Amino acid sequence: MKFSTTAIHTGQEPDERTGAVSVPIFQTSTYANPGIGQSTGYDYSRAINPTRTALEKNYAALEGAEYAFAFASGLSAIDAVLRTLSAGDHVVAASDMYGGTYRLFSKILTRFGVEFTFADMTDAANIERAITQRTKMIYTETPSNPMMLLADLHAIAGIAKAHNLLSVVDNTFASPYLQSPIALGFDASVHSSTKYLGGHSDLIGGAVMTSNAALAEQVKFIQYAVGAVPSPFECWLLLRSARTLAVRMRQHCANAETIADFLSSHKRVVKTYYPGLRSHPQRELAVRQMRGFGAMISFDAGSLDAARKISESVRVITFAESLGGVESLLCHPATMTHGSIPAETRRELGITDGLLRLSVGIEDVEDLVADLDNALRA
Ligand SMILES: *Cc1c(COP(=O)(O)O)cnc(C)c1O
Repeated sequence: MKFSTTAIHTGQEPDERTGAVSVPIFQTSTYANPGIGQSTGYDYSRAINPTRTALEKNYAALEGAEYAFAFASGLSAIDAVLRTLSAGDHVVAASDMYGGTYRLFSKILTRFGVEFTFADMTDAANIERAITQRTKMIYTETPSNPMMLLADLHAIAGIAKAHNLLSVVDNTFASPYLQSPIALGFDASVHSSTKYLGGHSDLIGGAVMTSNAALAEQVKFIQYAVGAVPSPFECWLLLRSARTLAVRMRQHCANAETIADFLSSHKRVVKTYYPGLRSHPQRELAVRQMRGFGAMISFDAGSLDAARKISESVRVITFAESLGGVESLLCHPATMTHGSIPAETRRELGITDGLLRLSVGIEDVEDLVADLDNALRA
């Protein structure tokens, strides 16, 4: 089965008892046991819940993975994968990463003795150089946030295998529709399902997908033992969103290509960052490892003042954090998503005070272009 059919049907088969075509929301914490030592297979909803199981089955199929685990947020999904490590273990992580992931790694996990080296992953040689005797994992994100840099997943998976390391990628920006890291040799991909998987800016969720059985067993145990699980209702919303993922992603990508062209030729825009632009140094890699260029665009308005004017002038586009929803969202990384990254590090990464990040929604693209044009003239 191809992507859309899988998204609509896998894990979402009609209910066996009633024929309901929408997976029931099993809003229950516990399950009646037939007697001592007997179980229906369901005991307690932190461990297992049928609505969550349906979602996990769907997500495994979308990602081309054997296993999927749903979490209460993207960060709790990332945390669960990192908790398979122990004190003294070392991780080579991407330097251009979601700010909250950087915060989790540098402020929380280091306190438990996990060590990190942050490397520019646009060049896989930097990863080789950062590997030590104690390295256990390579953790990357592509396309990256907010600079839209790509990491070569096939090359990185090769390095991880050669050094016997776990390879993990945050696949949130691409979504399973555009990129399949497991097919490219990665052990696991993580998602903030708050973004494209959810797609409507109405929930917080996360997921881990893997075909590595040993890793799956550990993540499942951590999901149960730590307990950062999503509610049955959240799982149901995500199942509903999965059914439209493909059509949404196609429209997101089409709109983004038009807007990237518009921004990159606008005289008030200093620079536009989008993997689909001819000016993007890694466009060829994007063509090779993605099935579209995504719908995240960053652009430099030149100054904090210019960025402020734009943020206050947009009417259709909403000035807000987050991404991946049907509505277009604009944010200012330096003060919002990447505020927790030291100013000097931000400058090194190119996150200037004039940089704005646009999550292109699926509104009519003419309205989005007119809104941006108007805001840029302000
Ligand atoms: C939002 C986001 C996260 C964190 O996910 P939450 O659902 O907010 O916990 C992680 N990675 C990326 C790339 C994100 O955009």
